[in-house]
Amino acid sequence: MKDRDPRIQQAANLLTESRAAVAFTGAGLSTPSGIPDFRSPGTGLWARLESDGTDESTIQAFGRDPQTFYQRMKPLFQKIITAEPNAAHYALAELEAKGKIQALVTQNADMLHQRAGSKNVIEIHGSLTEATCIQCYRIAPFRPLLDQYLTDGIVPRCKECGGTMKPNVILTGEQLPVRAMLAAQQAIRQTDLLLVAGTSLAGGPSSALVDSAYLRGLKLVIVNQTPTLLDQVADVIIHADVATILPAINEALRS
Ligand SMILES: [Zn+2]
Repeated sequence: MKDRDPRIQQAANLLTESRAAVAFTGAGLSTPSGIPDFRSPGTGLWARLESDGTDESTIQAFGRDPQTFYQRMKPLFQKIITAEPNAAHYALAELEAKGKIQALVTQNADMLHQRAGSKNVIEIHGSLTEATCIQCYRIAPFRPLLDQYLTDGIVPRCKECGGTMKPNVILTGEQLPVRAMLAAQQAIRQTDLLLVAGTSLAGGPSSALVDSAYLRGLKLVIVNQTPTLLDQVADVIIHADVATILPAINEALRS
């Protein structure tokens, strides 16, 4: 491909020179799969939940009124269970299989990375794989509970104590999962190259992970539609669709 953007080859070269990179992904990775960026200011589902004054996305609101939370999240849940991984997810899985990426830190809870074949996925904003009882902390797979909810509209209850089952995604007011954050910190501490894709890095504590990498002088490749907070200091910055650019970078490794 002779017209290829030289930055794609640059990114591929950095991956080749790296010991093994860490990828850091956000909502932009899944928008090509039809999952709305529910944290984008003003547009996403999350923003709508937070701006109508009812605050269903907070953990306190969930405890008070899980029915409303489930109702409001229903369109997103439905999108997530019907969504398929896109070319960006598959490119990252392939980079891991080739040994170019050793870990994938994601802000997404939609499981599309795992479904695309990524193995070492660190979910720092939680996951929809499981749900936890908010009374006795029993853990159960979320999918059967969700399927039942989508059928009968009744909020999932704990089999043991009757408490409300909450999907293991992090709501406003909850701490990020400690074990995942530690794993992410460790992975980023051990790498020499960070590949940031599909996030503008505006998201609080999880973005601080990336800041710490920059402060340590890691190489930084950023692929995102819109400008990010670290564009100024990145080694390669490409503002374009991740589903086009990540496969192109993967392809460029072979040439
Ligand atoms: Zn329980």
